[in-house]
Amino acid sequence: MPHFSGVDYFLIDSLFSEQERLVRQTARQFVDDRLLPVVRDCFREGRFPKEVVPEMAKLGFLGANLEGYGCAGMSNVEYGLIMQELERGDSGLRSFVSVQAALVMYPILSYGSAEQKERWLPKMQAGQAIGCFGLTEPGFGSNPAGMQTRAKQSGGEWILNGEKTWITNGSVADVAVVWARTDEGVRGFLVEKGTPGYTTSDIHGKMSMRVSTTSSLAFSDCRVPASAMLPGAKGLKAPLSCLSQARFGIGWGVIGAAMDCYETARQYSILRKQFDDRPIASHQLVQEKLAWMITEITKAQLLAVHAGRLKDQGKLEAAHISMLKRNNAAMALECARLSRDLLGANGIMDEYPIMRHMCNLETVKTYEGTEHIHTLVIGERVTGIAAYK
Ligand SMILES: Cc1cc2nc3c(=O)[nH]c(=O)nc-3n(C[C@H](O)[C@H](O)[C@H](O)COP(=O)(O)OP(=O)(O)OC[C@H]3O[C@@H](n4cnc5c(N)ncnc54)[C@H](O)[C@@H]3O)c2cc1C
Repeated sequence: MPHFSGVDYFLIDSLFSEQERLVRQTARQFVDDRLLPVVRDCFREGRFPKEVVPEMAKLGFLGANLEGYGCAGMSNVEYGLIMQELERGDSGLRSFVSVQAALVMYPILSYGSAEQKERWLPKMQAGQAIGCFGLTEPGFGSNPAGMQTRAKQSGGEWILNGEKTWITNGSVADVAVVWARTDEGVRGFLVEKGTPGYTTSDIHGKMSMRVSTTSSLAFSDCRVPASAMLPGAKGLKAPLSCLSQARFGIGWGVIGAAMDCYETARQYSILRKQFDDRPIASHQLVQEKLAWMITEITKAQLLAVHAGRLKDQGKLEAAHISMLKRNNAAMALECARLSRDLLGANGIMDEYPIMRHMCNLETVKTYEGTEHIHTLVIGERVTGIAAYK
């Protein structure tokens, strides 16, 4: 299989250190060698390729930008470049890694007890335990503040009741980070697979994210010990802080999907001939689409690098991440749509990656804060007026 050589119109590579390029190359090669040969069948079958997890763990991809407990302790730019390459392969694989690291390992590391960290983090970075993050409920997606899942204290235990839905890795997870309303506000709980009263069911019929498992979680008088609560996570700002971590990774990841679509369309348009045996790339309307894509990809790359550098300096804010996620996800989806168009009928075939990326990116536009919600975050930032309600 020919190896991907990247998309770099504007000497963006000069912004990366040798170490950062090495990390990117490692992830790039992993995707070329291990994911691409199986991804089409996985998407057709709706199967998560769990056979690649041990190798991703060995390469340090799980919790890559976290410190301690065996995590690789990479910079945020290195982490972003890994997300980019994984999503060039498939958004579903990047989602798996995002959830594991940003939505499960991160809250355990940031808000967990010493015992919780020791129990889960070494196993999770080694791929021996998988996590999921339960925030969304059937009635509350964009507005998690309305959540109805409740946790009540009873003696030395907590009793959980409620339902979470659209949960990535749900049924495959060994541990779920579950957010529930308590008398003292929203708190997070670590609920282990097999706990009585905790069941999962997979969501079928998805036309998007087919290589990622998505499930509903149900809690019916589910009793967990007091030690299952994340002691440092108090209020909705705790799950929102996890979402910021994941959204940062998405802002990088979608660049990979966009690059793959653009590069596929660019190469196709040079080879495909119509009208007087001329390549379709010679037509102005085709060039306009390619020019739009490479310009937007370049702007997205610059936004991501700047966000990564700010994050490494501890200066990246949630409102910055909203702009990164909103802009880059929309850019990638538009690149997928334009690329699909340039391939004509072939564009709808899974022989090419474009339609798969396009379907996946519809989810990416919606999850981790919809495009509307991030628009309102930016709007609030520049006006001081919250327009959510
Ligand atoms: C494949 C997949 C995986 C997911 N994984 C997870 C996971 O691991 N964990 C988890 O907790 N969740 C997960 N989600 C859920 C995801 O985060 C939600 O779908 C998302 O937050 C949107 O919620 P909703 O689907 O209920 O849409 P809604 O909130 O009902 O929104 C529907 C539409 O209304 C718009 N809208 C809503 N409120 C406003 C407003 N105030 N102003 C303007 N427009 C508004 C939205 O932008 C959207 O266009 C996943 C979703 C998918 C599809």
